[in-house]
Amino acid sequence: MIAGGGLVGLSLALALSGAGLRVALVDRLPLDDTVRGPDERHLALSESSCRILESVGVLQALGADAEPIRGIHASSAGEFGAARWSAADAGRPRFGVVVPARRLLAAMQRAVRACGDIELRVPESITQAWIDDDAIKARFEDAGATPLRARLLVIADGADSALRTAAGIGAEYHDYGRHAICCSLRPEREHAGIGYERFTRAGPVALLPQAGGRCGAVWVVPAADAARLLALADHDYLAELQDAFGYRLGRLRTPGPRVGYPLRRVLAERLTAARRVLVGNAAQAVHPVGAQGLNLGLRDVAALAERLRTAHATGHDLGDEALLQGYAAARAADRAATTGFSHALAIGTTLESAPARLLRTFALLMADRCEPLREHLQLGGMGFRGASAAWVRAGAHA
Ligand SMILES: Cc1cc2nc3c(=O)[nH]c(=O)nc-3n(C[C@H](O)[C@H](O)[C@H](O)COP(=O)(O)OP(=O)(O)OC[C@H]3O[C@@H](n4cnc5c(N)ncnc54)[C@H](O)[C@@H]3O)c2cc1C
Repeated sequence: MIAGGGLVGLSLALALSGAGLRVALVDRLPLDDTVRGPDERHLALSESSCRILESVGVLQALGADAEPIRGIHASSAGEFGAARWSAADAGRPRFGVVVPARRLLAAMQRAVRACGDIELRVPESITQAWIDDDAIKARFEDAGATPLRARLLVIADGADSALRTAAGIGAEYHDYGRHAICCSLRPEREHAGIGYERFTRAGPVALLPQAGGRCGAVWVVPAADAARLLALADHDYLAELQDAFGYRLGRLRTPGPRVGYPLRRVLAERLTAARRVLVGNAAQAVHPVGAQGLNLGLRDVAALAERLRTAHATGHDLGDEALLQGYAAARAADRAATTGFSHALAIGTTLESAPARLLRTFALLMADRCEPLREHLQLGGMGFRGASAAWVRAGAHA
């Protein structure tokens, strides 16, 4: 039973489809992207996420909506130096892709609806889950709905996960005091597949390549400024955004609607409880700088799906304590490295002090010039760490 049909819960359902498992997907909203609020996020997906989404047929379905990232340009306002990475120079066709979040959600919803072996319990909200012998049972808000019984409850209900709390798993919260304002726009110059990230003391500004010469803009601003910036006329908003980003892509024009997102870090204290396991934002929600949240969630999905498929094929209990502990142990290093990196980047790029400025300049120069560091950062950014990074390195050299 998967609780939560966001990008992570849907991916897990797709990854389990066809394995002979009985999977139920529960979401409090219908499986239809038009019922959700406006969403103007453009998600940068790493190469490892591309492979996961390809394996379930979703990336192919996105077609031209998935724009390849052919280069990365990172700089810091008012400071010397920039890191410029080219996928071609690194011997790769792309570092990943950028997709509009709502298109990705719609493609996943279509794919899940097309699977004949996923039981959809939507719109339904789980109000209570409890252990019942060798299974877990869930009751729904709609008192008339039949309770569900499963071997395992996968908790994928997002950062404010009520099921995580109900399972007795605490979480550490950090409010960044910032909002991300997202919109699409068209810069005067061709983006040429380059993703730009400019660090300012208020927060980063990113322009991510999109089809048709457009870009997905993400501007992280102090929470106190968010309402004013969201209410500005297009022309005035572009003037302020241009001030923060500069003229690297010429004039910024024709903005689409803007949506603001409050930014928090939420880290679950552990990933498992009896017959329950956390994935995606329910396990960890991170600052969007560095674009790691969904990428990390998709790696949760890949690791869990592999274990569940193997357990099913070998006749083992899917909610077995050892299986869940094995999953948590396998995710520990990536989880710690990625959440730590995102947090350090979010804090470190906004510090004002002279040593912080010096360190930033040095870090950008090193990321630009130091070959081993550049390769390490590129592989990490592409979603390959530890054994998988060694495997990609070996493949690249072979
Ligand atoms: C501005 C911004 C930019 C970002 N950019 C990037 C990026 O470039 N790259 C990247 O990798 N990540 C990015 N992220 C992070 C990414 O968006 C999230 O990590 C990802 O969407 C999390 O998906 P999820 O399915 O875990 O959670 P959610 O999307 O929160 O889904 C949770 C689901 O659970 C359902 N639900 C909740 N409660 C219940 C219940 N009781 N019963 C049943 N269902 C329930 C909800 O309806 C929802 O469908 C960004 C985030 C933000 C805010």
